[in-house]
Amino acid sequence: MKLKGLKDLQTLVSLCKRRGFIFQSSEIYGGINACYDYGPLGTELKLNVKKIWWDAMTLRPDIVGLDAAILMAPLVWKASGHIDGFTDPLVDCGNCRSRFRADQLKDPSKCPTCGVSGKMSEPRLFNLMFKTFMGAAEDTASVVYLRPETAQGIYVNFPNVQTTSRKKVPFGIAQIGKAFRNEITPANFTFRTREFEQMEMQFFVKPGTDMDWFEYWKKERIDFYAQYGFNKENLRFHQHKDGELAHYAKAAFDIQYNFPIGWQELEGIHNRSDFDLTQHQKFSGKNLEYFDEAAKEKYVPYVIETSSGCDRMLLAAMCDSYREEEVRSEDGGDKIETRVVLGFHPALAPVKAAVMPLSKKPELQEVCHQILKTAAAKKIKMDYDESGSIGKRYRRQDEIGTPLCVTVDFDSLTDQKVTVRHRDTMKQDRIGIDHLTKYTQDKLDNF
Ligand code: ATP
Repeated sequence: MKLKGLKDLQTLVSLCKRRGFIFQSSEIYGGINACYDYGPLGTELKLNVKKIWWDAMTLRPDIVGLDAAILMAPLVWKASGHIDGFTDPLVDCGNCRSRFRADQLKDPSKCPTCGVSGKMSEPRLFNLMFKTFMGAAEDTASVVYLRPETAQGIYVNFPNVQTTSRKKVPFGIAQIGKAFRNEITPANFTFRTREFEQMEMQFFVKPGTDMDWFEYWKKERIDFYAQYGFNKENLRFHQHKDGELAHYAKAAFDIQYNFPIGWQELEGIHNRSDFDLTQHQKFSGKNLEYFDEAAKEKYVPYVIETSSGCDRMLLAAMCDSYREEEVRSEDGGDKIETRVVLGFHPALAPVKAAVMPLSKKPELQEVCHQILKTAAAKKIKMDYDESGSIGKRYRRQDEIGTPLCVTVDFDSLTDQKVTVRHRDTMKQDRIGIDHLTKYTQDKLDNF
């Protein structure tokens, strides 16, 4: 069997639109640059991405969750360094007016759009935070920012969470939420957008133990991707060297993914030292030290951060699971056809099983609806599809990554059994309707 991976991002963009994973935002108005809407399947997939991350973080006793507001006191962003330092160097082409991030240009004197040399402006620093106004007055006193990262909501709540959850250091706080960055050059579909969701976890540790925890979290996070079926060859670490390190970081590694656009950051793992809590102590005037009762000592904890983008993880999961295969038609005969498969791990698959009657006869439809109802009661997301040949329906489900297809035929009415066809092997089993939900659950659990 011939097997091909994803050759370019455009192929995936078309699939996403065609099948209802991701649409351009405000499409009927011509779209708005770098904003995307998740359609029915994309919404399910995104919920699943969040769920596997949230479970990896919070199904352990030393991490708790938080859901902080997007709008925060403006002084937060002064303390964090975002007002003064969250900038990218912006250059304009004097000929075609295109804009670029200076640090992403191969040749800083030549415009990549029109090719003209010597017309590029000097770089000027552009702050990436979106501003808006709080209340009725639109003056400088009422400026607030849409958060550019979720992490600060965690730092400012450190004492609230620590005291109410009665956690002892080392412990972590996890959060999923929207972040906004007025990126100069958003591009590559949902890889870099202006509105996106982050999944961040800040782990508070005793100074001196930070590098051990840093190594621990590097391993945890790379193992996470392997656990959910990501191809190990598409993942690697990239260490931030001295020049690349952010102002707050003592050490930083990115987990990079081999996207069709090349190796790019998927997630960051940072040792942020005591920078953030110390800054917030300074600017708020509140004591953010931790009192270690056993050792009878006080200190400002160090923070190990794991910071990932939900949209970017979703994009990587789609790229990683995409494959094209040449197979024999499943409608019988010798015809060879290409099937596109999203070979998602079942925990990610938007639909776990598709239920299909062999024909549109009411007695077969009735059995299908009974199966769907039983599955829904067990919280297993199944879908119903009755149009086209069975082979075509299999192809449709392959393309959206559905692990199982369940066909109800005329024999089902007498033997109370259905045919279950497996996405990856295309093999079929005959299973009793009574056992179907359990069978499905077992297959999803033991992928
Ligand atoms: P870059 O240098 O590429 O701009 P960054 O290093 O500033 O990115 P972080 O601040 O570490 O990124 O953000 C953490 C994670 O959030 C990233 O690994 C990525 O998954 C996600 N992310 C950051 N910016 C965007 C964006 N504009 N669109 C989508 N996801 C993003």
